[in-house]
Amino acid sequence: MKGNLIIISAPSGTGKTTILKKLFAEVKGVTFSVSHTTRAPRAGEQDGVDYYFVDQQTFRRMRAENAFLEWAEVHGNYYGTSKKEVDRHLRQGLDVFLDIDVQGARQVREAAGRECFSIFIVPPSWEEQESRLTGRGTDSAATIRLRLQNARTEMQDADRYDYLIVNDTVEKAVDALRAIIIAERCRTRRDRDGRPIDILRNSDCGLRI
Ligand code: ADP
Ligand code: 5GP
Repeated sequence: MKGNLIIISAPSGTGKTTILKKLFAEVKGVTFSVSHTTRAPRAGEQDGVDYYFVDQQTFRRMRAENAFLEWAEVHGNYYGTSKKEVDRHLRQGLDVFLDIDVQGARQVREAAGRECFSIFIVPPSWEEQESRLTGRGTDSAATIRLRLQNARTEMQDADRYDYLIVNDTVEKAVDALRAIIIAERCRTRRDRDGRPIDILRNSDCGLRI
């Protein structure tokens, strides 16, 4: 059985990366689609692990070759999800997280329809988001300003998502995310063609956790 395609978005600095890292350490059967980006790596980021860091020319070529499931310009850089990478993981039966922005989420919903679900994470307050972005210490003051500005627009898309999680404490947010994943795995109609699932084949829904 194919895994679930899960869109996860959040305004920058909300804590999405932190939450996903903890979830991946605790839950089996989940993976993350490594995106391509023209953004420069931050300190500690590794090519092929955090992103595939590519130049504009490579990104444009991949776009022309229709290699992306979705792509968008976000905070002045290009980001895209490779179709090949997502298909490979789904065929392995893994639940695949797409950590993408609201523009990318719209494209994937359009392409995948009911064959995906989406989660939006928000910070407990604007003040807390600014303090997390500043505290992370990876971005210039100008970049932080741009990301805070963009957050207001991104929040307008929140009600297009199936689930909303407030990242108050990391523990509570990871608990909520784990609960959503388990519930989605136990759906009676999560078969890709919309037919009710074969109970015997799917009796492992809880055991994958
Ligand atoms: P994002 O991936 O959403 O841009 P990060 O995961 O990089 O955000 O988190 C931004 C900063 O906020 C990091 O320094 C991280 O350690 C911190 N952080 C994340 N979640 C919380 C939380 N629940 N409470 C306090 N700080 C947090
Ligand atoms: P960051 O530069 O902080 O890693 O990511 C900035 C924003 O780009 C985040 O909102 C993140 O979700 C989004 N992003 C990362 N990869 C992709 C992608 O492949 N496609 C789209 N549309 N957005 C992405």
